[in-house]
Amino acid sequence: MEKKTSKLYAIVHSKCPHCRRGDIFTGSLYGFNIQHTNTHCPHCGQRFEIEPGYFYAAMYISYAMNCAELITLSIATYILSGGYLEFDAFWLYVGVIFTGTLLLSPFNYRYSRVILLHWLSPKIKYNAYYDKP
Ligand SMILES: [Zn+2]
Repeated sequence: MEKKTSKLYAIVHSKCPHCRRGDIFTGSLYGFNIQHTNTHCPHCGQRFEIEPGYFYAAMYISYAMNCAELITLSIATYILSGGYLEFDAFWLYVGVIFTGTLLLSPFNYRYSRVILLHWLSPKIKYNAYYDKP
């Protein structure tokens, strides 16, 4: 019996939820080439945007991820600066949050769609038949 790809591996490496083999995105997460979402899985042919405008839903996931990250960054800045919360600390927080948003945007783009496809798309089910080379 062949070894099956785990769901965790497929999510971390952003593989297709149907076969867990094909890449959802072209390009790397932080590379010089801009990442794009494939229309179909290069391995099993699963269509990723299963309905028109399906990835609009990923926007809400991305929003939730962004909120969680910005709250974490704000608290981390507060703790790491030793509780610095004067009026002139405003630009410190703005700088940290702005930089964090910029640096995390490729991550949010990719993983909001991965979460949508793997956890919130009941129409796309894992099929072990396609999970082979
Ligand atoms: Zn696939």
